[in-house]
Amino acid sequence: MTARIFCIANQKGGVGKTTTTVNLAAGLAQVGRRVLVVDLDPQGNATMGSGVDKRSLPLSVYDVLLESASIAEARQRSPKGGYDVLGANRELAGAEVELVELERREKRLRLALQGVASDYDFVLVDCPPSLSLLTLNGLCAAHGVVVPMQCEYFALEGLSDLVNTIKQVHANLNPELQIIGLLRVMFDPRITLQQQVSEQIKAHFGDKVFDAVIPRNVRLAEAPSYGQPGVTFDPASKGAQAFVEFAREMVKRLG
Ligand code: ADP
Ligand code: MG
Repeated sequence: MTARIFCIANQKGGVGKTTTTVNLAAGLAQVGRRVLVVDLDPQGNATMGSGVDKRSLPLSVYDVLLESASIAEARQRSPKGGYDVLGANRELAGAEVELVELERREKRLRLALQGVASDYDFVLVDCPPSLSLLTLNGLCAAHGVVVPMQCEYFALEGLSDLVNTIKQVHANLNPELQIIGLLRVMFDPRITLQQQVSEQIKAHFGDKVFDAVIPRNVRLAEAPSYGQPGVTFDPASKGAQAFVEFAREMVKRLG
């Protein structure tokens, strides 16, 4: 059994990609799955939010993309999360420029993951807020994309760029790639507009919308400063429970 690889992507910043990545990872770990989180964002938020200090990484995803280290050498264990992390820090911002010159530049992550595919059930790739070469590496490596989105007025607008990029990657670079689903996050049911946009999303994307809905919940926002996902930081919180529910839905859909 080799790992199913998913990108958590949306080219907007602050929409909940990293929160989704680390909490889905912890949720999947909780239901007994072996998980690797790959942090592809130079901000290193998924790394820090997993309790791994980005400032003192001996090796990171940067070294893996430049093929000076393997994932087996560079991965760390999230102390509380129950999953492994291939960390990132600011060094990764330079990879973008350095990779442009190199061959197989968009396939680096895909190739590196082959070396550890049998160690995991799921690999979750936390993408940066852009459709850059880093994101392209994620999309080339993945079987599918999970798109977290807020139910706000402009949410659907930016989505067409992502959907087009996914179509192009599917056509030219990675025929396996598909959209697994849209995840509604930071949801506040008291706000009428959010309910309306949520209905629009469902009308437009049908069963590509996950049943699980992640509520706006302050415990999810507090957890990173304690170096762990909300799922382990406060398991009884509404946010944590929603992510465990989402993890179960992913397992049910994908095995
Ligand atoms: P991205 O990775 O897309 O930039 P983040 O996951 O970092 O987005 O989320 C942006 C901000 O919103 C962070 O401060 C995070 O803690 C907060 N946040 C994310 N999801 C929730 C939620 N469900 N409830 C409350 N705050 C959230
Ligand atoms: Mg992020």
